[in-house]
Amino acid sequence: MVTDKVDTKLNEMIIHDLLLVPIHIRDDRHVCLSSEDCIRLFGNDVQLTVEKELSGDRVLYREKITLVGPKGSIENVALIGPFGGQTYIELQMADRWNLGVEPPVKESGTALAAPTLTIVGPMGSVVNYMNGIIMGRHMHMDADRAKALGLKNKAFLSVETRGNQPVILKNIQVTINNHHYTEFHLTGNEAEALEIESGDNVKIVL
Ligand SMILES: [Zn+2]
Repeated sequence: MVTDKVDTKLNEMIIHDLLLVPIHIRDDRHVCLSSEDCIRLFGNDVQLTVEKELSGDRVLYREKITLVGPKGSIENVALIGPFGGQTYIELQMADRWNLGVEPPVKESGTALAAPTLTIVGPMGSVVNYMNGIIMGRHMHMDADRAKALGLKNKAFLSVETRGNQPVILKNIQVTINNHHYTEFHLTGNEAEALEIESGDNVKIVL
């Protein structure tokens, strides 16, 4: 059937587009809160102040929080909104020494090493649960795209860099959001080593 062929072609084109993910170089540590955790940290009637508008409808708030780990703490950690979905913490690689946490690593099977951090705000604190901590390169994906690609929150995938000398990067963890943005994040050092820039794309290898 001609229509079947057209449908298949269309489907392939849509899937191809869904597999391309823009790159953003991020070196800053920050936290994004669930609505419940925001209330626990800042109280019921909280109205946070937007300091700066960021890409993908996100904002940087003026308010800060403190992260406490087994070995130490870091104050004045940035909060990125809008809130909602699950709480996650993005750290710089060096933070693990100061805080005493190890990044989640994919084990054989399904178990993941899960560091624990406490987030402290002016009105209370919350212990961050399993797999809420992101270090090094990772991907954020909007829920619609994740559904279309059959990916679950915290899934691992591989991506291929573009350009003259493509490289496959494995064990990239995906954090799914309800905010309509899909981005591949990596540090400036990693980007330099891979000769890629903000605005380039990576392609998901399923
Ligand atoms: Zn990120």
